[in-house]
This record gives sequence, C-alpha cells and structure tokens, in this order.
Amino acid sequence: MSTKHPSPDPATIVASLRDYIEQLREEGLDGLPAVNPPSSALAGTQPPRTASVAAAGAAENPAMLNPPNKKLTVKRDDRAEQPHSVLTTPANAATELLYRYPGLEKTADLDMLREFIGACTRCKLAPGRTNLVFGVGNPNAELMFVGEAPGADEDLQGEPFVGRAGQLLTDIIERGMGMSRDDVYICNVIKCRPPENRNPEPDEVNTCEPFLFRQIDLVRPKAIVGLGTFAVQALLKVKTPISKLRGRWHEVRAIKMMPTFHPAYLLRNPADKRLVWADIQEVMMFLGQPIPPRGSRR
Ligand code: URA
Repeated sequence: MSTKHPSPDPATIVASLRDYIEQLREEGLDGLPAVNPPSSALAGTQPPRTASVAAAGAAENPAMLNPPNKKLTVKRDDRAEQPHSVLTTPANAATELLYRYPGLEKTADLDMLREFIGACTRCKLAPGRTNLVFGVGNPNAELMFVGEAPGADEDLQGEPFVGRAGQLLTDIIERGMGMSRDDVYICNVIKCRPPENRNPEPDEVNTCEPFLFRQIDLVRPKAIVGLGTFAVQALLKVKTPISKLRGRWHEVRAIKMMPTFHPAYLLRNPADKRLVWADIQEVMMFLGQPIPPRGSRR
C-alpha cells in the first residue's frame, strides 16, 4: 500500500523551521535536541485528504485525529517541568504540527479550519464547554491578539474576550490604538473553557495548539500581541515569566510577536497599564500607525 504524504506548502515549512530556530534562541544551547526522534516518525500517517473529508472523519471518530501511538514529539527528562516542551529536529518541528492532524495543512481559509475542528472532542475540556470559541475579527488582519482560553462569558457567547478583561482589551484596541475591534483578529491558545477558569493543562495545549498555529498561518498578520504569561509561554514554548519577555519582539511562525500583560492581570494591577501601553506603542510603530497623543485617545 502506498504511504504517500501530503506535501506541505513551502511557506508553512519555512515558518515551522523559523519557529524551531526561535525556540532554540529562546532556550539557548540547552534547547538543542538530546534525542533524535525516530526517522520513521511519519510512518503510518494517512494519505492526503481534503479538510471536509478530514472533518467528517473526525466527527465519526475524533480519536483517529489524535492517535496516542503516533506521538511525534521527544521530551527531555530535564525539561519535564515545562508546560509542553517539545524538542524536535528541524524536520520534525516542521512536520509535527502539520501531521498531528492529517489534512490540517490543506485548510485554505478560516472557515475551512473551523469546519475541520468540528464539534471537537479531542481533549477533556469538550464535555464542559457551552461553545467552542474559535476566533473573531478580520481574516486578513495586520494585527492578531492571542489570549489564553475562554472564560465564562466567552464560553456562553462563543466569542473571545467579551467579558471584563475583554472590555479592557477592546478599550486598548479602540481607545488606545484608534482601531476597531473588527480590524484585528482575536483568538486564544485553547478554544474551550477550562473548568473554573483554571490554567489549561499541557495535554490540552498540545491538542489545541495546531489549530492556533494554523490560524496564524492563515491570517498571516504582520504582528501578533501575545496576552499574558500563559499564551506567550505556549506560543514560544518557554517557561520564562512574562515580565522578562514583554516589551521586546519575538518571532512565532516567522511573524513578529510582542508579549504583554494579560488584560485580566491589568484589572488587578492597573499601575502596569503604562507598561502595556509602551508595548502597544511598539506594535503601532512597527505597523506604521500614528500614535494618538495623550489625552486625544478615544
Ligand atoms: N481571557 C483570555 O485569555 N481569553 C478570553 O477569551 C477571555 C479571557
């Protein structure tokens, strides 16, 4: 039987490789792979399918999209404390996200991606959710915001950042940046609400992150703002505190990413709004947008 694999598009491979290099840069030499993953890592992956076929397959048997015996990552013992540290060769870094869910790389737009995800039951958050919170905004946005996971309001409404923290994010976008919420794209690392708003767990991140990375690949914004420790650590695959990461540019899938504090943190620590404003100004300068003078912000 032929084991022909889908050919990922070159842009996706380059993005994955750059991700991997960025990961090494973040982690230093300590991040170099200690173990070579099996060269047969791709053996047994399924032949190319269209997204709708894949989605249909997932609906019939969601487990087949995430088979436990097809793990492509290699974990190092000394990084066991990391939330989901994956150490791979560049080739595997490129293939891991593409092949975890065969057909994902064929989703050509956000609607197809949403169809691919379907009525997801791939992780243990599924039974507790009201709505899967996919993402909202301009599919061609220059700017993308990535948060952690839906809260109670988001779960009920099926839209990210609509609760109190969401109102503050909307203020940052609309009053601070002079943009409309509809101009940007907003999503989360995790698409379903964790119970009692607890932090997402590593297996949940692992299961959901290919969808976030595909969202990034499809929107291809000029810049991403990573909101809060959890989202930024998941995007960069590091364990560094947000206070050390914020305020300078990083790279995720070949896209500039500015980490900043989460709006929920700002509700508790309003004095740090000035730091977020400094980060947002960096983003606006990078995007070539005029910075509204103090006092004139809407
Ligand atoms: N916090 C997040 O990280 N995401 C949301 O969508 C809402 C609150």
